[in-house]
Amino acid sequence: MNKYIFVTGGVCSSLGKGVAASSLGAILESRGLSVRMIKIDPYINVDAGTMSPYQHGEVFVTDDGAETDLDLGNYERFVSSPLGKENSITTGQIYREVIQKEREGKYLGKTVQVIPHVTDEIKQRICKTGEVPGVDVTIIEIGGTVGDIESIPFLEAARQFMHDFGKKRVLFVHLTLVPTVSGGEFKTKPTQHSAKALLEIGIQPDILLCRSEEPLREELRHKISLFTNVEPEAVISAYNVSTTIYEIPLTFAEQGLDEIVVRKLGIDCKKSDLRPWHEVVNTYVNAKKIIRIGILGKYIELHDSYKSIFEALLHGGIANNVKVELVKIDSEQCEQSDDIAPYFKDIDGILIPGGFGQRGIEGMIAGVSYARINKIPCFGICLGMQIMVIEYGRSILGYSDANSTEFAPQAEHSLVCLLEEQIDVKAYGGTMRLGKSDTLLRKNTLIHKIYNKDKIAERHRHRYEVSNVYKKELMNKGLIISGVTFDESLVESIEWPDHPWGIGVQFHPEFKSRPISPHVLFISFISACIEYGKK
Ligand code: GLN
Repeated sequence: MNKYIFVTGGVCSSLGKGVAASSLGAILESRGLSVRMIKIDPYINVDAGTMSPYQHGEVFVTDDGAETDLDLGNYERFVSSPLGKENSITTGQIYREVIQKEREGKYLGKTVQVIPHVTDEIKQRICKTGEVPGVDVTIIEIGGTVGDIESIPFLEAARQFMHDFGKKRVLFVHLTLVPTVSGGEFKTKPTQHSAKALLEIGIQPDILLCRSEEPLREELRHKISLFTNVEPEAVISAYNVSTTIYEIPLTFAEQGLDEIVVRKLGIDCKKSDLRPWHEVVNTYVNAKKIIRIGILGKYIELHDSYKSIFEALLHGGIANNVKVELVKIDSEQCEQSDDIAPYFKDIDGILIPGGFGQRGIEGMIAGVSYARINKIPCFGICLGMQIMVIEYGRSILGYSDANSTEFAPQAEHSLVCLLEEQIDVKAYGGTMRLGKSDTLLRKNTLIHKIYNKDKIAERHRHRYEVSNVYKKELMNKGLIISGVTFDESLVESIEWPDHPWGIGVQFHPEFKSRPISPHVLFISFISACIEYGKK
């Protein structure tokens, strides 16, 4: 019988509910269970696609083209089960559905209300993923903090799950904070209050994951247990790890989290095998050499804006037995400098990530130029590839005004422009080129050697493309068009000639990198950076 685990958060936001839910998923998967992950975001946006990275960090894209919260990226990095549109639920989607049904007369004249119509819609959405044959456990992370007005319908739906399915099928895991005050004393009161806030809406947590700086001592776990009615061994210490977030499944498993879950839910399964996670952590810890990667982007102040790229770089480091140090370079600052060389001092490689809008573009072009001329490994992703093409147009084709119509609609030489079918698109949400599609790789190119395949499938999220008008000219002047779409109509990847590692890709390989199976492009990039560093 399919089981449901709801993960809620208390006390404050940013406690790492996504990583906690993913870690739980990883351990259960290592016990041979088929796990599905769902993220509920109680905001009214239909999806994360229209949000600025400053609001919620990066927009994560799934194979089927859903633009989702970055927690889905954590799910994919920790758990191997498939993710798509149905794994990301928002208030916007639920209300859109309910209102549409109301307009179609599907409620047969009834007054449409939060309970039962909205909560029923939420339950149906969760069951669509969970009630599939073969699925053992569905973990549903409810975004926000208990006590937020906007998450109430979702918590109520979770409570009803317990009413409908009972204790053998439903479990509540609550993540809280146990802060320390001066003198290093742990304080349990916020956790007590937050468990009470859940109880007030009819949810008794079964397991508490207590975030704290140091591991919680036994007596403290007993004290929290006494005040919250959670068994002492189910009060798990989610202490800060000093290594990498990939150690968290191990710290949870050491405290028997998975044992408690399978016991409470009555699941019969094998013991966990966390060897791959031990290996990831050991390699990370034992790596001595440091490789410094400059990330030249515009949303650099907020770490979460390029979350998947940063993680993929770390994975590439693990595969090469090195530690990757991320050097965040603000492209807008670069743009204002006469001499950009100091920004790239002691840097082993440069990565230009994706982005939208004109701010900071000239700084990226200058950085790309610097990398090309000085033969520094350079990896352009999406916007990054477009920048590499524009720079080539300016420096090698000699078009000083070369640009993208996204930034300079009137420029004479638009090397990057909108596709015909995008020109009249007015709606913003879900209208870009999104999700997985196939790319043909040209033989005898660096990228073909890296993938060792003729055909690959990667995820996209962009509106603009390299202009076919300039394709021939770019190629005649040496730029290698190394990948194209199946019908050969669009450029998917490029390479610099006479350069150790200058690759631009229109797709987002970072979305598919996992610590256990790092993406080949990131492995190869870091390896090139190590070589460059030796010089
Ligand atoms: N702004 C560019 C486009 O829409 C690049 C998008 C991206 O980097 N994700 O094509």
